[in-house]
Amino acid sequence: TLSKTKLPFQAEVAQLLHLVTHSLYSNKEIFLRELISNASDACDKLRFEAIDQPALYEDQPALEVRVSFDPAAKTLTIADNGIGLSQQEAIDNLGTIAKSGTKEFMSRLSGDQKADAQLIGQFGVGFYSGFIVADKITVESRRAGLPAEEGVRWVSAGAGDFEVDTITRPQRGTSVTLHLRDDAEEYLNLWKLKSIISKYSDHISLPILMEKEEWKEGEDNKGGRMVKTGEWEPVNQANALWSRPKKDITDEQYVEFYKNISHDFEAPLAWSHNRVEGNTEYTQLLYIPAKAPMDLWNREKSAGVKLYVKRVFIMDDAEALLPTYLRFVKGVIDSADLPLNVSRELLQESRDVKAIREGSTKRVLGMLEDLAKKQRKTTTSSGDDGKLDIGSGESVPAPNPADGVTDVVDKNADTSLAAEAAAEYGDESGKYAKFYAEFGAVLKEGLGEDFANRERIAKLLRFASSTSDTVSVSFADYKARMKEGQEAIYYITAETLAAARNSPQLEIFRKKGIEVLLMTDRVDEWALNYLTEFEGTPLQSVAKGAVDLGKLQDEAEKKAAEEAAESFKPMLERLKEALKDKAEDVRVTTRLVDSPACLVVQDGGMSTQLARLLKQAGQ
Ligand code: ADP
Ligand code: MG
Repeated sequence: TLSKTKLPFQAEVAQLLHLVTHSLYSNKEIFLRELISNASDACDKLRFEAIDQPALYEDQPALEVRVSFDPAAKTLTIADNGIGLSQQEAIDNLGTIAKSGTKEFMSRLSGDQKADAQLIGQFGVGFYSGFIVADKITVESRRAGLPAEEGVRWVSAGAGDFEVDTITRPQRGTSVTLHLRDDAEEYLNLWKLKSIISKYSDHISLPILMEKEEWKEGEDNKGGRMVKTGEWEPVNQANALWSRPKKDITDEQYVEFYKNISHDFEAPLAWSHNRVEGNTEYTQLLYIPAKAPMDLWNREKSAGVKLYVKRVFIMDDAEALLPTYLRFVKGVIDSADLPLNVSRELLQESRDVKAIREGSTKRVLGMLEDLAKKQRKTTTSSGDDGKLDIGSGESVPAPNPADGVTDVVDKNADTSLAAEAAAEYGDESGKYAKFYAEFGAVLKEGLGEDFANRERIAKLLRFASSTSDTVSVSFADYKARMKEGQEAIYYITAETLAAARNSPQLEIFRKKGIEVLLMTDRVDEWALNYLTEFEGTPLQSVAKGAVDLGKLQDEAEKKAAEEAAESFKPMLERLKEALKDKAEDVRVTTRLVDSPACLVVQDGGMSTQLARLLKQAGQ
C-alpha cells in the first residue's frame, strides 16, 4: 500500500484550477451540483457493476448521498456510498484531466471571464469546482469490494500539488470535505444548502439526505439555537426527472436538468419529453442546445445522449441512439426493453435500439421544424414589422400516430431566451436562426447520412442568396420566388460569401434577376451530392457545365450566342490549342455580362471548390 506521498497536479489541472477559482466566482454555488452529480455517478457505477457482482453492495444496498456541515470547523461534506476510489484511481482521476483535448481547450480561453466561464462550463470542471469555495479539500474513499485497510485520503489546497495517504475506512464510497474559505461561510446553513440542492439536484434519482435541525431554547429562554437531531431526511424528490409526468415538471427543472447533463451554462433552445409505447417502450428527453460545443466537428466524439435501462444508468454518449449528424442533441433515453448488461456492440445490432433511433431522429427533426415554424424574420426590403413567419410554404407533418407516441407536448425554453437571441442576432432574431448558426452545417451532413429523412432535412436547410444577406432562405422560399419559366434551383459554392457574391458566374443571373443560393459551408459541396432536386425541381450549380437558362433566354439571345460561337470559331480553336494542357474546352458563353472570361467545371466534374478542399487534405 501507499505511504504518504506528495504528487504534482498535471500541468493542465493547475492551470484549470487557477481559472476555475477566478472565472466561476460569480456562479459559486455550482460546486454543489458538481459534487452531488459525482456522488450520483459513483452510485450509478456501483449499481452497474453490481449487476454482475451483487457482493459489491456489501451490507449497504440502499444508495444515498449525505450532505452535512460543521459551522465550528467551517467544513461542508458530501458523502456517498457509491463505487468509491482505489488509491490509484484517486491519483489518476483527481490529479489529471482525463478528457482528451484539454490542451486545445486551454488554448481557446480568451481571458474574458464571461466567455471563459461558458467554455469551462462546457468542458465540465466537475470536481475542481470545489476550489471555488474551499481553500482545502479532503477526499476519503474506499472502493467497493476492497478491504477497509485499502482506503485512501487525498488532500489538496488546490495549488500545484496534492497529497495521498492510506487510511482504514470501513464504510464504502467517498466523502468530499470542503474547508470553506472565509467568504463562503454562507454555505454553513441548512436552508441555503437545501435551496441549492432543490434548485440544481432535485432530479437526481437517489436520495440526498441532510440532518434535521430543531430549535432548542437556551437556559432561561435565552440564546436559543438550531441543533442537529441525528435524524436524516431526504431534501430532493429522488426520482429521475424523466420518469415523472410532464405536468409535474417545471421549465426551470427541465433547464436545470439539461445544464446538469450537458455542462452547459446556457439554457437549451428547446426540449421534448415523451413516453413512447408500442413494440419498443422507452422514454426520451431530448434537448437542442443553444451553443455548439468546441468539439462539435469531431465526428468521433459523437452523441450526447445517455442511455438508461429502467432508471439504471448504462452509458454516456451512446452513439447508436441517434445518427451522427444529430450529435449536438443532449438528453436521456430510458429503455424498458433492453437488458441491463447491454454493451456498445450489442446496441449496434439491437432491433429495439433501431426503433429508438428512428423514433428519436423523428422527434428531433420535429423539434427543429417547430423552431423553424416559429422563427421570425425581417426581410430587409419588405419594411414590415419584422413579424413575418418564414417557412410558411412548408408543411410540417403532424406527429404520426403510428409512432405510438402517447404523450406529446413539446415545450420550449423560457421566453427570455428569444429576447436574448434577438439582442444577439439583431434582425435575425429567433431560435431557429440561433440554432442554424451553430448547428446548420452539421445538420447538412444528414443529407448524406440519413436517406430516409432527406426530404425533411432539406426543408430545414437555410442559405444566403444573391438577394438575401442573411442565411435564411429555404428551398421552399426560393421556389416561391422563382421566375416564370425558371426550371432549376441555382446555387454557387465558394469559400466565403464575398467570393460567392463577386463570382463572374453570377453575372447573367443578376442581369436576369434570378436568385442564386450562396453556399459557403465546407460541407455544402459534399452534402449537395446527395440532393439533386427539391420537390421536383432540380438543383443546378451555376459553376458547372454550360448553364442552360432554358426558357429564361429569349430567342434573340440564343441566336446571338449561336452566331457568336460561329464567328469566333477560329479564335476558339487558337485558344484551345494554347490552353490544351490546362483547359478541356473553350466556349463562347452567355453567362458573362461584364467579365471577359471565367472558368467552369464540366457537368458531373469536380467543382473547383471541392478540388481545392481535396488538395488541402493532401489528395
Ligand atoms: P467527471 O464527473 O466529468 O468525470 P469530475 O471532475 O467531476 O469529472 O470527476 C473526475 C473523476 O473523479 C470522476 O470521473 C471519477 O472517476 C472521480 N470521482 C469524483 N468524485 C467521485 C466520487 N464521489 N466517487 C467516486 N469517484 C469520484
Ligand atoms: Mg463530475
